[in-house]
Parts: sequence; C-alpha cells; structure tokens
Amino acid sequence: MTRTKLIAGNWKMNNTFTSATQLVGDIAAGLPNALNAEVWIAAPYVYINTLAENTSNTPIRIGAQDISTHVSGAYTGEISGEMLHSVGAYFVLVGHSERRNYFGETDEIIATKIDAALNSNLIAVYCCGETLEEREAGNHFDIIKTQLHTGLFNFSELALNNIVIAYEPVWAIGTGLTASPEQAQEIHAFIRTQLLNKFGAATADKMRILYGGSLKPNNAAELLAQPDIDGGLIGGASLVEADFNYIINAASTAI
Ligand code: PEP
Repeated sequence: MTRTKLIAGNWKMNNTFTSATQLVGDIAAGLPNALNAEVWIAAPYVYINTLAENTSNTPIRIGAQDISTHVSGAYTGEISGEMLHSVGAYFVLVGHSERRNYFGETDEIIATKIDAALNSNLIAVYCCGETLEEREAGNHFDIIKTQLHTGLFNFSELALNNIVIAYEPVWAIGTGLTASPEQAQEIHAFIRTQLLNKFGAATADKMRILYGGSLKPNNAAELLAQPDIDGGLIGGASLVEADFNYIINAASTAI
C-alpha cells in the first residue's frame, strides 16, 4: 500500500503573531505545484485560529502542540480538544518528548490525551522515542514497545485511523544529531511489526510512522526514502521557510 508522505512542522514556543503569519504565507507560496505530500504545522495555541483561516485555501493543515486531558471546566490555563477543533485545528501532537521530560507526562496521561483528541475529531500524532542513555544501554526496542503498548495499543483498530505515530529519538531532537537512515528504518520497521502483531496487516500497512530528530534538508531525502519512514516531524527546520519547503519537496518526490 502507498502511504502518502506527511511533513509536520512543530514550531514549539517560537514566532510572534507577525512572524507566524508571515512564515505560513511564505511556506504556502513555496509549495510545489505538483505537491504529493501532506503538510501540517503544529502552531502555538494563540495563532491557530488565524493560521487555519489563512491556510484554508491551501493544502496546509494547522494543529496544536498539546491538548488537555479534561473536556471542560475549572482547569485554569488548559485548552480542550473541543476548543482546538472550534478554532480550526486539524490535529494535535501528543506525548512530545519535551512534554514528557519537562511536564512529567506519562504514557497513561498521553493515552488520555489521545482519547481527548479523538473525541474532538482531531488527529493525534503520538510521539515516542528513547533517550541516549536507553539507546546506549541497548534498551531502545523495549522502551518503544512499552510506550506503544501503554500509550497507544489500548485503542481500537478504528481509532488508529485517526492516529499518526512519530518516532523521535530524544537524543536527536534539537541536538543536530540524527539517527542514521538505517537506525531510523530499523525502529520504524520494528514499530510496524508491533502494529502487525497487535492489529493485523491492514492496519500495520496503512499507519503512517514519521521520523523526528534533526531532520534537515541535508538528510531529508535519504531518511524519507526508507520504506517504513512515511514523513517527518520537524522542529528547527520548520521555522525556516527555505528549509521546510526543501524537505516538503523531498517528501513530495520520494518514492
Ligand atoms: C521535534 O521537536 O519534534 C523535533 C524533531 O525537533 P528538531 O527537528 O529540531 O530536532
């Protein structure tokens, strides 16, 4: 089965309103005419409404970087799935390593967030990945397996239609270190085998698994050419129009 490549930018806590609207306009203007990939941008909450309106006539989809576990009520500072959907969000990142590390998110919390996203008609991008310590100890397969089983595998086959997996080795995020195409492919194939064992071939075959971790113009083509890498989750390079569009082009022309 051919899985459409997906390039998702994660802006994190960057850009002002002015630079955000400028950047999204520049990215839209720089898209190839024969785009053969999906382009998503996870923006800061406060820009979602405007960016979703500004991109409504383009292939770009705007999403959020996090979501509350709660539906509504007295949770000061939280943003619910319904709120996100109501301002035009299409998807939400869940379980990014920065949320796990700095905000104490566990696989159990993350599973609740996926549930919240799906209940609000948002696609959930489930992030998983090992730390450098875990890789050096040779535990990376076990870590990924546990993250998948606790965070994701209690959902139904049907629910998985609205979930994308992002494999992001923590040691490669924002560090300039990248998993080699072979290292990334090895884990992506492992994740697909886990999906196969749990849900069967049809689901394993159609689920998209993105690679994240210092994906840049200079390594995009090689990573995106791997058979089980279905796109990228991109931090730093998504803030630079030329770099992001270069990567989109690479995805669009990858086989
Ligand atoms: C990320 O934040 O998900 C990410 C992969 O960042 P970077 O591309 O900067 O490593």
